[in-house]
Amino acid sequence: MSRKPGSKQLILEYFLDNIGKILESKDIQKAGGGAVEWARRVRELRNEEGYQILTYRDRTDLKRNQYLLETDKRLPAFERDISKETRAWVLERNGYTCQMCGVAAGDPDPLGGGRTVRLTMGHIIDKSKGGNDTPQNLRAVCTNCNEGLQNTALPKPDRIHLLAQIRRATIHDQEAVLAWLLQKFKLEVKKKV
Ligand SMILES: [Zn+2]
Repeated sequence: MSRKPGSKQLILEYFLDNIGKILESKDIQKAGGGAVEWARRVRELRNEEGYQILTYRDRTDLKRNQYLLETDKRLPAFERDISKETRAWVLERNGYTCQMCGVAAGDPDPLGGGRTVRLTMGHIIDKSKGGNDTPQNLRAVCTNCNEGLQNTALPKPDRIHLLAQIRRATIHDQEAVLAWLLQKFKLEVKKKV
């Protein structure tokens, strides 16, 4: 007797058969044999098996009931083994900002496509050079930098040029910089009366 494939396997096959197409939740559920826990299976495929299934949180053009698998490429296994706590700690330390190109989580993707920036874990010292998976050797990098799609790793801006840029920016942009810094350093300001 052959064992029936589980709902997770069925859902995965449905995604793999429809790479690059936007899928709706009701069809995903149907593909999974009507499993009521289809959403949990999708999360498992994403978080435990590393399939990069995108949702409305990743792309502004997706609705809440829509999902998209753009590639069958899975995130590396080490990344799936990193605990939620470690990931959160590294992201917070790095100010939710890609340490290679400087984009922040939730910014519009500079490569376009209506996507928002997603951050992932990268190694400071590459594993091939003896680096490990400890929080000290991890840093936030955007998926573009991680996949080598952006071949320019920006040099770190020096202070004089950075301040000059901020001084020349619009008030609105200066306020955005201030808000970001306050959030990063967990500070509050009161305006002088
Ligand atoms: Zn980047």
